Amino acid sequence: MKLVFATNNLNKLKEVQEMLPKSITLLSLKDINCFDEIEETETTLEGNSKLKADYITDKFGYNCFADDTGLEVFCLDLKPGVYSARYAGEPTNSEKNMQKLLSELRNQKERNAQFRTAVALNLNGDKFLFEGICKGEILTEKQGDKGFGYDPIFKPNGFDDSFATMSSDEKNKISHRGLAIQKLVDFLSKYK
Ligand code: IMP
Repeated sequence: MKLVFATNNLNKLKEVQEMLPKSITLLSLKDINCFDEIEETETTLEGNSKLKADYITDKFGYNCFADDTGLEVFCLDLKPGVYSARYAGEPTNSEKNMQKLLSELRNQKERNAQFRTAVALNLNGDKFLFEGICKGEILTEKQGDKGFGYDPIFKPNGFDDSFATMSSDEKNKISHRGLAIQKLVDFLSKYK
């Protein structure tokens, strides 16, 4: 079966392909000659992931899945959430996003947060949703230089250090995206 992962990120694509049974061939947007800018106009992670998967299925006719991730900080009413990439404005700038969040949390003791990933799957006319959550807290300053986005200021529960101190293998085992994709892979592995 051919299945489109609505992403241009070849690292993400390769990682998921390695987790899937050989009977499923993953295709990127480039593989199906889709160079459209799919605007994420919805106000929830679920909405945006569905919007991207539906765009591909409706326009190109493929089975498809798409993901969307946000950082939800509890004392900020789950912000930046769906706006995580452009929290400090556009174009996306991770350093500015982190500085904005650190300054909003200055003097704040309760710093609990979670990364949440929604994965929407369109398969043979049916629609499915998967979710992965990684709980943790926002540090008071940056730590580590690996990863991307908010990794240097997010410390997952049960660990002493930020995501940005972990190898990608270590992070994938416990991360929001890793967990959501694992649910998708388990589902596809059993799908007849
Ligand atoms: P996307 O939906 O995967 O593109 O993620 C949206 C935004 O959330 C990114 O631009 C990052 O700012 C942030 N983000 C998503 N996943 C992670 C992660 O694993 N670590 C740090 N930041 C992330």
